[in-house]
Amino acid sequence: MARGDSCASIAHLKAPIVIVGGGLAGLSLAAGLRNRGVNVSVHEAGHYPRHRVCGEFISGVEASTLEALGIKEVFEDSRLHRSVLWFHGDQRIHENVLPTPAYGVSRHRLDLRLVQLVERLGGEVRQGVRETRGSEAGKVWAAGRVASESQWIGLKAHYLDLPMLADLEMHVGTNGYVGLAGVEDGRVNVCGLFRVDRQRSGKGSALQLDYLRAGGFAELADRLARAMPDEASFKGVSALQLGWQEPETGLFSIGDAAAMIPPFTGNGMSMAFQSAESALDPLTAWSAGDCSWPEAVSSLQASLRQRFSRRLGAAGLLQGLLGHPLGRGLMNGLGRSGLLPFRSLLSLVRQ
Ligand SMILES: Cc1cc2nc3c(=O)[nH]c(=O)nc-3n(C[C@H](O)[C@H](O)[C@H](O)COP(=O)(O)OP(=O)(O)OC[C@H]3O[C@@H](n4cnc5c(N)ncnc54)[C@H](O)[C@@H]3O)c2cc1C
Repeated sequence: MARGDSCASIAHLKAPIVIVGGGLAGLSLAAGLRNRGVNVSVHEAGHYPRHRVCGEFISGVEASTLEALGIKEVFEDSRLHRSVLWFHGDQRIHENVLPTPAYGVSRHRLDLRLVQLVERLGGEVRQGVRETRGSEAGKVWAAGRVASESQWIGLKAHYLDLPMLADLEMHVGTNGYVGLAGVEDGRVNVCGLFRVDRQRSGKGSALQLDYLRAGGFAELADRLARAMPDEASFKGVSALQLGWQEPETGLFSIGDAAAMIPPFTGNGMSMAFQSAESALDPLTAWSAGDCSWPEAVSSLQASLRQRFSRRLGAAGLLQGLLGHPLGRGLMNGLGRSGLLPFRSLLSLVRQ
């Protein structure tokens, strides 16, 4: 009988689980598995610490998820964000307060802390190791989004000396949207998703400013021009496909590798943690010889579909609205007349 083919097989008992990709999904899963005594190693293509394209605004993850993974401590000194200001171009259209505070912490800090936690728990994190895709038993695919042709580009940089108008500022323009949120050490993360435009030029924060000016965010661009960008924190990413990534394959995939929610929701990192939580039981069962690998894969996929389908559908529709002049006009009108159902929309893109 081939290893991992049957529940009855115990050949893989104590076999380590290999997690490919040491982002939030992979590292938090590794911590959760170590807390259950499962042998685990993470194979990460890059090196820590490193900046990522990310709004660094973590909203919608329950305390129970962080506790199940045993990673609550890494958020202890994070910023807590409550107030939200929404802009249409340069116009303020809506302000509100989040029902539950969001965390603000850079990926530079968060990913490194998770690596240190995994190692402290006895897990192995190998850096500079690029693995190939594969659905072998015991291999978790947490390697992030699947690169594909796309009309989107994500641009992020930290700024210093940038006074904020609310904990989270969300600005929507004609070529995309950008979020501003504080992280540690007085830094403000400015991260946007824009429609690719070959006419835009510049390097680092200058490219970000060029996209902002082209999208009708003149006041915001002026504010950023008066602040101090940390060019070392600048990152860009393109070729990203939103929604379910590859639901048909037999991969045991979590995080963005399974599904990527549009970034305006500020929920992608929460989904990375939630999918890691969903992976804990099937992996623990497989490593104890209580189920086969294909069973573990189907169990995870069913759990992710149940957890994420509604939110991905709603977020896709809203992303379409924000990307269309009529949709933006509608949001603008609702915001200005005080009728924007912010909290209801928010609950649609949360668990
Ligand atoms: C513009 C933008 C803004 C965003 N803003 C927010 C926000 O404000 N709030 C929020 O919650 N989410 C946000 N997100 C989403 C969030 O960044 C992701 O959902 C989250 O990073 C997913 O974590 P992950 O671990 O699945 O993937 P990643 O963090 O991408 O980690 C994947 C890891 O796998 C490694 N890897 C890749 N291929 C291999 C390989 N072959 N072998 C080994 N290692 C490999 C990579 O180096 C990487 O470290 C944003 C995304 C974008 C694009």
